[in-house]
Amino acid sequence: MKKTYLRWIKRLQDTQEHEIDCSECQDRISRYVDLELTAGSAERQMPEVSHHLAQCGVCREEYLVLHDLARLEIDGRLPSAGELRARLARPDEPEE
Ligand SMILES: [Zn+2]
Repeated sequence: MKKTYLRWIKRLQDTQEHEIDCSECQDRISRYVDLELTAGSAERQMPEVSHHLAQCGVCREEYLVLHDLARLEIDGRLPSAGELRARLARPDEPEE
């Protein structure tokens, strides 16, 4: 029983060595979305991001927003996803 527990702890530590944190993940999300929509190889090329997204609701939320925006941009329904991304980054901007 105790041995199993220790092995579980060890595995948890091994996993964490390869994990990225939220800020690293968020730095990579837009590239991840680009890869996913253009090359379809995001998961293969950035497995650490895909792994983090599977575990973290906060980053997944951001990923979904960027993903939707990028799709709209590809469909030609937005002038620039970069512009909207910049707006999202400043949610506290005072209203006119
Ligand atoms: Zn996260």
